[in-house]
Amino acid sequence: MSKDIKYLVLENYIGGKFVPCSKLIDSFNPSTGEVYCKVPDSGPEEVDAAVTAAKKAFPDWSAKSPAERSKVLNKLADLIEARLEEFAQAESKDQGKTITFARNVDIPRSADNFRFFASSVLHHTNDCSQMDHMGCLNYTVRCPVGVAGLISPWNLPLYLLTWKIAPAVATGNTVVAKPSEMTSVTAWMMCQLLEEAGFPPGVVNIVFGTGPRAGDALVSHPDVPLISFTGSTATARLITERSAPYCKKLSLELGGKNPAIIFADADMEQCISTTVRSSFSNQGEICLCTSRIFVERCIYPEFLARFVETARRWKTGVPSDPSNDNGALISKEHLQKVKGYVALALTEGAQVHCGEGVDKLTLPQQNASGYFMLPTIISGVKDSSALMQEEIFGPVTCVTLFDEEEEVISRANGVRYGLSATVWSRDVGRVHRVARKLQAGLVWTNCWLVRDLNLPFGGMKNSGIGREGGKDSYHFFTEVKSITIKH
Ligand code: NAD
Repeated sequence: MSKDIKYLVLENYIGGKFVPCSKLIDSFNPSTGEVYCKVPDSGPEEVDAAVTAAKKAFPDWSAKSPAERSKVLNKLADLIEARLEEFAQAESKDQGKTITFARNVDIPRSADNFRFFASSVLHHTNDCSQMDHMGCLNYTVRCPVGVAGLISPWNLPLYLLTWKIAPAVATGNTVVAKPSEMTSVTAWMMCQLLEEAGFPPGVVNIVFGTGPRAGDALVSHPDVPLISFTGSTATARLITERSAPYCKKLSLELGGKNPAIIFADADMEQCISTTVRSSFSNQGEICLCTSRIFVERCIYPEFLARFVETARRWKTGVPSDPSNDNGALISKEHLQKVKGYVALALTEGAQVHCGEGVDKLTLPQQNASGYFMLPTIISGVKDSSALMQEEIFGPVTCVTLFDEEEEVISRANGVRYGLSATVWSRDVGRVHRVARKLQAGLVWTNCWLVRDLNLPFGGMKNSGIGREGGKDSYHFFTEVKSITIKH
């Protein structure tokens, strides 16, 4: 490493101040493979300082009215929006996603998360029983839980972090958040806006670092009674074990192996373009991405041919070029893992129709070491294969055919995950029937990723525990108390 190279060096944000960390870890630009940023390698000491600051801030913050807190959240949304381009550039460079995706999805949604919870927290109502119930008045109140521990992944960095911070602080908690060590920059940029937005010191603390050090210290901290985690199912198991001795409140938003079920009467045009998007958006690095496509036998040849043709037009390249649909995958290790599934498919006798090993990707010289991969479509894979059972989390999707409605429902449900599904048909009765029988927290019919933030979000089976979203986040981030008054 040349001495002249200047890296962006991040600092923790604790008690309203930036605090340097003595140990740092490298963060890579996925489109070049070069280190461009140094991230604090925080451990128990830094986490403890952040929890102390959050505990200190809790009495005043939780005593404010929802309307007062709401003002601060709305101001932060304004500040993020005013710097949308700066945030989008940073997210794209740090994560490898295209600038277009960061501009249109990640950053607007991050601002929306604050606006949505700033508003929704003003409109929740509590229960009240009839006045004459055994001569008593019964009603409920909801109280913030305390210091919330928030842990988020690398695929939608600021989007998913703010999806947790916003409801946590809107409901009166204070927080210690730990973003992924691979994508910390936009969280650090947001810290620069917190004071101007009006957050008192200690309400939002951000500690950067790895899962096994900073994440584990947060999960096992006795003064953090609640953990909201988004990430892999494997990490969720560790978190569940580590938090069990403290009986913490847990919300776990985990992986998926999401099916698309395409019936012969589907609107083929719309179905193909949306299924390309649902399979490959953000390099396939969205927990809701489609990775198993079941197509009714009579339309299978036509679907496959048109699907491959459309996927080939999904442009992969330098993230800063707004004409590209996909950028780079998050890391070298992840790229190798995803490519490993394609290699496995070949050993199992499957057919790779486009992308990896079939088509050639041309990149500028400076991106030759970036972690790029073309959208890849595979057929001829058995349902029992790892490709049909495990979350690949990259631009790879498998296509297979089916004959009967009951058969496809059972095969779609035949995985340990249950996050989302899409169903394509013009038959309203069938759409309702199939949607009800699918084991998935979210079912989209004739569309994908249409999100109403009021609705519960989360998965069944190994895809998670609990739901987040309007009322569900309100319930998760508060404790309910029943009060009985005899009169
Ligand atoms: P990950 O589980 O490796 O890491 C997620 C976060 O947990 C990171 O901040 C990481 O540092 C931290 N972590 C790791 N080990 C930890 C430990 N022992 N204790 C505490 N924290 C720890 O997941 P990832 O690779 O960053 O993200 C990809 C996964 O996230 C995929 O499985 C994807 O499906 C899932 N995901 C789910 C949703 C959803 O809403 N259901 C959304 C996005 C991503």
